[in-house]
Amino acid sequence: MPRQITLADGRTVEVDCLSCALTSGLIVPTGGVIYESDHFHVHQDVAYPIKGLVILAAKRHFYGMDELTDEEQSEYISLIHRIRRAQRTRLGIEKVYYFYNEDTTHHFHLWMVPRYEWMKKFGNSVESLRPVLVHARNYMNDAENMNEVLGGIDQLREGLQGI
Ligand SMILES: [Zn+2]
Repeated sequence: MPRQITLADGRTVEVDCLSCALTSGLIVPTGGVIYESDHFHVHQDVAYPIKGLVILAAKRHFYGMDELTDEEQSEYISLIHRIRRAQRTRLGIEKVYYFYNEDTTHHFHLWMVPRYEWMKKFGNSVESLRPVLVHARNYMNDAENMNEVLGGIDQLREGLQGI
């Protein structure tokens, strides 16, 4: 069922699946594509302006971890590893929270959310994740932080090239 989606830059688009729209290039994410492989697409959702936050989405439309093909499985873990390394070497990110749910309205995608000092006031582990994202969306949407976030996207893009 098509849904109206408002992008971070204010544009509104109607898509069946946001992940399909992003990975097919129909929608270009703000900050651009970080990396693209045969089966996956790496970008940031700047609606949640957290430096180094990464979304790793499959190009194929499916939902369950058990639906990954053999080829996708090895590419998936290798990409997570490479993204994580770029987060550490380029942005100094020491800890990352990984989040993925199969009952998403979009298709298969993994959130890699850096853990920063300011997030501790929202608690630890899974219960802090939503409040952290909402806080970033509502209170960190200023030009200075957005510049930091876009700079982080460039850093990760560079870090993922040629490895
Ligand atoms: Zn899809």
